[in-house]
Amino acid sequence: MGKTKELSKDVRDKIVDLHKAGMGYKTIGKQLGEKETTVGAIIRKWKKHKMTINRPRSGAPRKISHRGVSMIMRKVRDQPRTTREELVNDLKAAGTTVTKKSIGNALRRNGLKSCSARKVPLLKKAHVQARLKFANEHLNDSEKAWEKVTTGTTSLTPRWDKCVNYVENTLMYAGGRMFIDKHFQEDKKLMMEELIDGIRWAFVDMVEKENDWMDEVTKSKAKEKAHSVLAKVGYPEFILNDTYINEDIKRLSLSEKDYFGNVMQTLRFFAQSDIAWLRKTVPRSEWFTNPTTVNAFYSSSTNQIRFPAGELQKPFFWGLNYPRSLSYGAIGVIVGHELTHGFDSNGRKYDKNGNMDHWWSNTSISRFNDKIQCMINQYNEYHWEEAGLNVRGKRTLAENIADNGGMREAFRAYRKWVETDRTGREEPLLPGIGLTNNQLFFLSYAHVRCNSYRSAAAREQIQSGAHSPPKYRVVGAMSNYEEFHRAYSCPVGSVMNRGDKSCRVW
Ligand SMILES: [Zn+2]
Repeated sequence: MGKTKELSKDVRDKIVDLHKAGMGYKTIGKQLGEKETTVGAIIRKWKKHKMTINRPRSGAPRKISHRGVSMIMRKVRDQPRTTREELVNDLKAAGTTVTKKSIGNALRRNGLKSCSARKVPLLKKAHVQARLKFANEHLNDSEKAWEKVTTGTTSLTPRWDKCVNYVENTLMYAGGRMFIDKHFQEDKKLMMEELIDGIRWAFVDMVEKENDWMDEVTKSKAKEKAHSVLAKVGYPEFILNDTYINEDIKRLSLSEKDYFGNVMQTLRFFAQSDIAWLRKTVPRSEWFTNPTTVNAFYSSSTNQIRFPAGELQKPFFWGLNYPRSLSYGAIGVIVGHELTHGFDSNGRKYDKNGNMDHWWSNTSISRFNDKIQCMINQYNEYHWEEAGLNVRGKRTLAENIADNGGMREAFRAYRKWVETDRTGREEPLLPGIGLTNNQLFFLSYAHVRCNSYRSAAAREQIQSGAHSPPKYRVVGAMSNYEEFHRAYSCPVGSVMNRGDKSCRVW
């Protein structure tokens, strides 16, 4: 053995290489000018300590082949509780010897940043799930499996769609600015002002004239709260400021070659932006909604309603070239819906400044509870065929209160608008449709809720959605409302006219 030690590493490696190439000890010895026994000793030693010789000099863990990585990812996907040790053994059985450290590296490189295989199930499901769509194909597949079970879909969002969404939600103020420059007309704000004023008036008017269950003191506080609701329309002013937008984006340095890294970087960017507000007073004028969002909001802690530019489009917002009945029936009901959230089973607990406060008298609370029980029972009875389940009246209560109130407020505001702005003259009818303006109002509301669900998604909606299924958002609110019954002449006791059994909170 003494002799083998004298050979340089170069010569030893050459001996091994020639051996691997299939040469005998004698031939190798001849070629390199070494004794046959020396060559034999080197090769025996190599066989015995194969791994030691092969390991890279730096001592860094061995890189795993693509096949090995696929195997690891598949295993972790199918059996998330697999330990690193088990993965090491699996790979060994398949002919590759690796360390636990290299398994960790492979997992990190494939999107399971800083988690060992063993720790995967301990990570929040939501966190991992939210990142899956940004990871490699294997993890994408597991997202597909999840989506298939929860929504019934058989394909993932196309890449272009995913990428547009990513940019839209990441560069939301810059993207929002581009959107409003092209698609938002400032006169939409004027019409929204008209709608919001009308609907606020309608809520207060109904509290004064039609509410027979609330005591006077609580009523006056409710009216005060309604008057204090701050409405925000379109986009926050600061996005018109180029300097602000440019400074904001400067904090990001996105790379064309590191998609997952970009995702992680933007998550950090959002977290830092949020944390920057910690222990600071947030001005009431500030709002953090993405202008391109197609949705509307009520915030109980700030007593605000918000309508981003994305929501102010058809079929919600119809603008000045269409009958007002269409806009009042769609965006109008949505304005009413958001305003009424301030007075639903949860929002009622906050005062006009957004502080949790007991501003109701006990008698008004107990009468409110009777009113909402009627609605809980009503919606509990709806059976949604697509889901094979009944609507959950209690779970969807707040949204149902908002839908019912919103419809009444918007209709009342519409009639008031006809009364004052048109001195009582009905709007011109739409040619060829044969519906009255009041009928169009309700049709426009139903139109907004048009939808289609797979049964898995329908079940998911029932089990974890805050809203009733779209069909029952229409049927539920309309069948409670005498103006709808009148507009379409629905007989008492029919599905669309609950008559005496109608429920009403606001
Ligand atoms: Zn709502």
